[in-house]
Amino acid sequence: VNPERLHFPTAGAPGDWELHLETAAAPAVVGHSVAALATAFAVPSLGVALDMGRCSALLARQDVVLLSHCHSDHIAGLVAWLSAHTRRHRDRPTTIAVPAERRSSLLAALSVWPDLDGVRRRVDLDACLVGAEDGDEIPLAGGAVARAVRAHHVVPSLAWSLHPTSAGRASIHYGGDGSILPYRDRPELLDAALALVDCTFVESGRRVAARLSGHGHLTDWMELLPNAACDCLGLIHLASYTDIRALTTTVEAQLRGHAGPPVVAWIPQPTRS
Ligand SMILES: [Zn+2]
Repeated sequence: VNPERLHFPTAGAPGDWELHLETAAAPAVVGHSVAALATAFAVPSLGVALDMGRCSALLARQDVVLLSHCHSDHIAGLVAWLSAHTRRHRDRPTTIAVPAERRSSLLAALSVWPDLDGVRRRVDLDACLVGAEDGDEIPLAGGAVARAVRAHHVVPSLAWSLHPTSAGRASIHYGGDGSILPYRDRPELLDAALALVDCTFVESGRRVAARLSGHGHLTDWMELLPNAACDCLGLIHLASYTDIRALTTTVEAQLRGHAGPPVVAWIPQPTRS
């Protein structure tokens, strides 16, 4: 992480459409998150993907997909992942954890998706889909576990905490889509080396809109920051139209003079011609 408390990757840098984030205590996270378009991250050391709004070669290598919820920007890459993972990484585990309330409809959709016959021959989708509820654990590579945490969104939604060992501190907390309410009520949920959280809204007039739509707002996070238990807070799921200069100014102003972990905020930079 940049030694500065706030880090925005430079516009026009190679690979600026994808975030590569590695902190001292957290494993590398590689991926992309833009509100309403696509969110998907790989944590290669744990063999896990956090949501699958788009697929990539790196995401296809991960054995476990932890879905936060079933909005299209978080699952649109699932068909491509199933196809690539079960073809190129045959004989490896194929697991999709999904909020329990959505398991049957997701299974039904994948069971009738056109021309997915190869996938349906290679794996038993019914066995691959695991319904998860608050507190459930999904085993990961090397004895790590992913623990589901109920999130506050407009549809059934989970956050996921990745623990290197079942009893140990989380290395990554992934909030998926959701407001700050669970974190305000239970600050210990952010106790992780790295917390990646929803910051869809940054405009001062849209705080109520954020809460009503079950999303995080920059001001919400800035208020929580002094007491945030994570070592680094990653603001993701920003809108594609976010004015990064205005965001930088706002965050720098709010960070000044306050305690709290460093902040990383990321959106891909538009291609300039
Ligand atoms: Zn989303």
